[in-house]
Amino acid sequence: MGASAEQTAYVALGANLGDAAATVRQALHALDILPHTHVLRASALYRSAPVDASGPDFINAVAELRTGLSAHELLAQLQRLEQQAGRERPWRNAPRTLDLDILLYGGLQLDDPVLTLPHPRMWERAFVLRPLADIAPTLVSAQQLQGVAQQRITRLAPEGADPRMD
Ligand code: ADP
Ligand code: MG
Repeated sequence: MGASAEQTAYVALGANLGDAAATVRQALHALDILPHTHVLRASALYRSAPVDASGPDFINAVAELRTGLSAHELLAQLQRLEQQAGRERPWRNAPRTLDLDILLYGGLQLDDPVLTLPHPRMWERAFVLRPLADIAPTLVSAQQLQGVAQQRITRLAPEGADPRMD
């Protein structure tokens, strides 16, 4: 890797198989220990109904990273973490143990065969916009949140905040 400038990037995390909340928490830690990367902010965990995907509810979160990796290096690292989490791709939009998408990478706009930035569907998804608004409120407008207000999503209490939560 060259001496490229650090960038701020936003990554969406989603899981809907197995202990999805544990998978997302572990993935937040894994992001923090990627090379040349650390997590500046992590949203709360959210539970959302599957959109264009099958299976149980998703657990979602968004993380703000500071990284010296290029966008493509970051994507490769995210795909490695997905593989480590046991992700298989038996069919398109199959349930997944872990999905890691780059939402934004600095101000980069890109559309190549492996990477589209900003993420093309982020503005349509409550499970992206709600956690993103938690950690980067200036990036998400009230109007955008209103646009996804019909999608079923709940914010989970922080771990340990309520002994009745699992
Ligand atoms: P999805 O995230 O759309 O449900 P996948 O995780 O299987 O589906 O991703 C399919 C492909 O999307 C990946 O192989 C990757 O090359 C591509 N891709 C394009 N833009 C992005 C992005 N911004 N973040 C993550 N993957 C992306
Ligand atoms: Mg993905």
